[in-house]
Amino acid sequence: MIVAGNWKMNKTPEEAKQFVASLLEQATATELREIILLPPALCLSAVREAAKGAKLSFGAQNCHFAKSGAFTGENSAAVLAHMGAEYCLVGHSERRQLFGETNEFLAKKVVAVEETGMVPILCIGETLQEREAGKTKSVLESQLREGLNSLMMEDEVLEMGEKDDLGMDPLTGVWIAYEPVWAIGTGRVAGPDQVREAHGWIHSWLAENGFVESTPILYGGSVKPENAAELAKLPHVDGFLVGGASLELKSLLGILRSK
Ligand code: PEP
Repeated sequence: MIVAGNWKMNKTPEEAKQFVASLLEQATATELREIILLPPALCLSAVREAAKGAKLSFGAQNCHFAKSGAFTGENSAAVLAHMGAEYCLVGHSERRQLFGETNEFLAKKVVAVEETGMVPILCIGETLQEREAGKTKSVLESQLREGLNSLMMEDEVLEMGEKDDLGMDPLTGVWIAYEPVWAIGTGRVAGPDQVREAHGWIHSWLAENGFVESTPILYGGSVKPENAAELAKLPHVDGFLVGGASLELKSLLGILRSK
């Protein structure tokens, strides 16, 4: 079970260092291997420094798709990877809603992240309005199809006999996070039936579209120690993407230990 902690725009480098120091003291080696910290980009070095020598993975919350250029205020995937990030979120609902990021734009980020060797975690999920209008699956389908479009096209090119420069299967490296928008930061967790249905559907879609069966699918949306155990038991729930509850060590470890 993976627990990825999305700190969003919280914690200073000093606070990040202290968090990691306490985490290393309190978590077992097995637990550490299940945690991925996603601090603000400017805290990546602090996390790396504090985690030195320990098997603790961390990643970034966002990146730009270009390698460099006139993109004031942005960070390239390559720089994040250089700072030790092994994962990068792509298309978190806050990026989609507050910063207007479209599926087409996000597809470029997925490729940019993969090219650095980091794992892109593509976040998908419907709004309450979309769910109530019966559009959940069509929203998830377009977020997956359009967001993963470049990887799927690369695969078709490979099938036509061209060689992948990196010698890697492009359809193995991506992770998905299903995060119903109405459950993020609201305290309203999706019910087991809703999570079972969405994860089952995503799993089938990935398999039908050439992604490996083992593509991890995380659930996110108000996960806490009190609700994690029930969700963790569901089929195709490979872990959690946690916002609020990842800011406190007690609740982060509580989620890991609840199963
Ligand atoms: C998130 O930001 O990805 C998230 C799931 O937040 P929360 O756990 O606070 O709902």
